[in-house]
Amino acid sequence: MSAETSVKTVTEHSPEEIERVKEWINTEEYKEINFAREALVINPAHACQPLGAQMVATAFEGSLPFVHGSQGCASYFRSTFSRHFREPSAATCDAMTEDGAVFGGQANLFEGLENAYSLYKPKMIPVYTTCMPEVIGDDLTAFIKNAKQKGHVPEDLPIPYANTPSFNGTHIHGYDSMLRSILTYLTEGQKIEGKCTGKLNLIPGFDGSTGNIREYKRILDLMEIPYTVLADTSDVFDSPCDGHYKLYPGGTKIEDAAESINGKVTMAMQKYSTVNTMKFIEETYSGEKVVMPMPFGIQKTDEFLMKLSELFGKPIPEQLKAERGRAVDAMTDAHQYLHGKKFAVAGDPDYLLGIVSFLLEMGAIPYHILCSRTTKKFEKEMKALLETSPFGAQGKIYINKDLWHMRSLLVTDPVDGIIGDTHAKWAARDAKIPLFRIGFPIIDRVNMHRTPVIGYGGAVSILSMIANKFLDIKDETCENQWFEMMR
Ligand code: SF4
Repeated sequence: MSAETSVKTVTEHSPEEIERVKEWINTEEYKEINFAREALVINPAHACQPLGAQMVATAFEGSLPFVHGSQGCASYFRSTFSRHFREPSAATCDAMTEDGAVFGGQANLFEGLENAYSLYKPKMIPVYTTCMPEVIGDDLTAFIKNAKQKGHVPEDLPIPYANTPSFNGTHIHGYDSMLRSILTYLTEGQKIEGKCTGKLNLIPGFDGSTGNIREYKRILDLMEIPYTVLADTSDVFDSPCDGHYKLYPGGTKIEDAAESINGKVTMAMQKYSTVNTMKFIEETYSGEKVVMPMPFGIQKTDEFLMKLSELFGKPIPEQLKAERGRAVDAMTDAHQYLHGKKFAVAGDPDYLLGIVSFLLEMGAIPYHILCSRTTKKFEKEMKALLETSPFGAQGKIYINKDLWHMRSLLVTDPVDGIIGDTHAKWAARDAKIPLFRIGFPIIDRVNMHRTPVIGYGGAVSILSMIANKFLDIKDETCENQWFEMMR
């Protein structure tokens, strides 16, 4: 850059001052100031509400997600999915700008819906909002009704919608609102008294792992339990590369979602991302309703399988019993590399409960547990989980804190590793500890969404990732006399 075009630094700091501040932000004094912070969030461990809505909206066959709001927000959701899954993430947006903010976004919605329908011929267009239309109070009920009445889209085109203001929730709440809205729309008038599809409706919750969804399906196939996944992201975000672009590569069939109301059992695999959906299901669906913890580790996977066996009268297949035995063997073989090690964990409530449960099984110490937007109910549940094991005694729970708070914790009260998504890499780097990537988004490593972290196989994968990284570090950092062939 030439001297004429170079940017003039607004504030000059001496190298000594920079060094002083660098050291100061690692102190207890700074930590206290950091934790007193109220009006500012720095590097939160969550994403926007509409991003969660988009995950659901994209997971039905022929469904075209539609963002009512700002183009920049829509690009952020699409790019995050594309970076995490390394797949195209189709979605459209009515690109509200200043005039929409002043006069309301109805005109944008009319034009957007008309274009989206005529260009992409979707079977369904789920609509969800960014912050701008929420702030100005756009009335989606009226707008969508008007769009149909004025002929912008056919009367019978399903257009469920969800209000997803990001100033009042995270991606898990957006997921919940959109799923509830789609199921409400598709199941209306479909309930038939006395009819039972005999199927399990499995709701994975907000899960960035297509490997997890495939693992649920594999287990159900092995147990010969018929199922509908509500909603199925596995083929949408992990479609084969066969030289042909498919705009709608998979997802739950609309007919299956519609008849899910007559299912035998509806089972949510996450509690905190399905609160409102399960309320709706409790009130309207036939059959049993169950909310399970995510099956991380041996105990939670056992609970999942035994519940399925009980509800459907199916025995646990020999193949799964053998997988369990191999997982226990792998955990025994590698326990010494995790036992007594301290971990920080950050992420979504349901993932955190699962990961902490797994760490306790391994005799590892979940030490700093941070959730960047959640409730006292979660805190209580996590506390109860920690109390089930002596390895939980040192665990400290931080709710509604961000990853800059986590950084302060890591540098003043160190741990051996941190488990979380890519956002945690700065804190991990400053604290000079490894980051074990589990969660969403993971945008700086490849293919991690393809390997399940749930089930018995998932336990082996997590365990191997952590233990082998610790062994790598040992090899890279030990003195010559301790550089061993065998570890
Ligand atoms: S917080 Fe609101 S305005 Fe910002 S990206 Fe998310 S939805 Fe858009």
